[in-house]
Amino acid sequence: MDDSRRSAALAAIDQVAEKHRAELVDLSHRIHANPELFFKEFKASAWLTEALEKAGFAVKRGVAGLETAFRADWQGSGAGKSVAGEGPDEGVPTVAILGEYDALPDVGHGCGHNIIGTAAIGAAIVLKEAYPELPGRIAVMGCPAEEDGGGKIIMLKAGLFDDVDAALMVHPTTGDSKIGGASLATTTLTINFKGKPSHAAGSPHLGINALDAVVQTYVNVSTLRQHVSPDVRMHCLITKGGSVINIVPEEAEVQYLLRASTREGVRDVVQRVKECANGAGLATRATVSFVEAEGYDARKVNRTIGDVFRDHYRRLGETMLTDPEPSGGSTDFGDVSQKVPAANAYPRIGPKGTPGHSRELAAFACSAAGDEALMKSVKAMAATALDIVISPGLLARAKREFEGGQ
Ligand SMILES: [Zn+2]
Ligand SMILES: [Zn+2]
Repeated sequence: MDDSRRSAALAAIDQVAEKHRAELVDLSHRIHANPELFFKEFKASAWLTEALEKAGFAVKRGVAGLETAFRADWQGSGAGKSVAGEGPDEGVPTVAILGEYDALPDVGHGCGHNIIGTAAIGAAIVLKEAYPELPGRIAVMGCPAEEDGGGKIIMLKAGLFDDVDAALMVHPTTGDSKIGGASLATTTLTINFKGKPSHAAGSPHLGINALDAVVQTYVNVSTLRQHVSPDVRMHCLITKGGSVINIVPEEAEVQYLLRASTREGVRDVVQRVKECANGAGLATRATVSFVEAEGYDARKVNRTIGDVFRDHYRRLGETMLTDPEPSGGSTDFGDVSQKVPAANAYPRIGPKGTPGHSRELAAFACSAAGDEALMKSVKAMAATALDIVISPGLLARAKREFEGGQ
């Protein structure tokens, strides 16, 4: 496509987005006013799919066995003979645009996922209307349960991303707008100790104290903390600590959420923490057992796509950090980014220092700044999807970077 046609397509995207501004902002605010927890996002997924269906997308609800998940496809007329929704064509580039829409207990949309879900469907609907001759396919992925449950991982396992070539998502942030860098891979390690009950005053010498083993594990891990790499996070909850005060605790349990910037890094930390627990078991004679559950994977950064995404935000007047910014948190978008080249933009909705997962952030998620971030995201994500499909060599370069080439 020559430059003038591309410029005309970008101008059309901005214009069509503005035409839809009122209904998109209304949808974002409606989802915000009706916060729904993970896997229970019934209203949000109904409203998002209704809008997609109205715009002519082939919508499949309840995909991957999840009631509130969906996939909505549209194939541009430039892609050739195949009819939208009838399965993938060889050689038709498919860009997935991901939406989240779950809220949090107590703080509602304190992570701003109302903006993510609305931006995803907005970008897809705007691109379809602005550039119907797209020589590619857009797949809007409605992904439930980011905060707890990992909907994207379930959708990945069900094969919903198997025909996808690249993936895009936005997530509101506070402070600087940016493209997301590496996020942390996670594993939950549950450590259970079994001791021996005995009268805590009359015969403590006959008991084995499982709570002591948990406390000793806590101290050992705190000692370890200074000697792990700076990306590592180890946080815990003591979930069992005995039953009544006059019996030496027979059973105690501690749960660690362990994070590092790579999956291998997490496995190493899991091993070290297990050694801390084994040492505690030895010292107290309590019997130790482990349950390990791998969580979200680390986000693999794709600079090729991230650079295009950033340029579009800048074109729209957004100030963006130049380098992808690593995140101290974790997201199941990480798992998607390990499957296909992917980029996650973070547009600003509030000032630096606003805590995540808070009522303050929830307020910004339906403020004028939140609405502005939504509209810029709709335009930038539609434009980035367009570029991935039409720019010669861009997708090939993104794939080479993903495979570790160049
Ligand atoms: Zn979030
Ligand atoms: Zn969150």
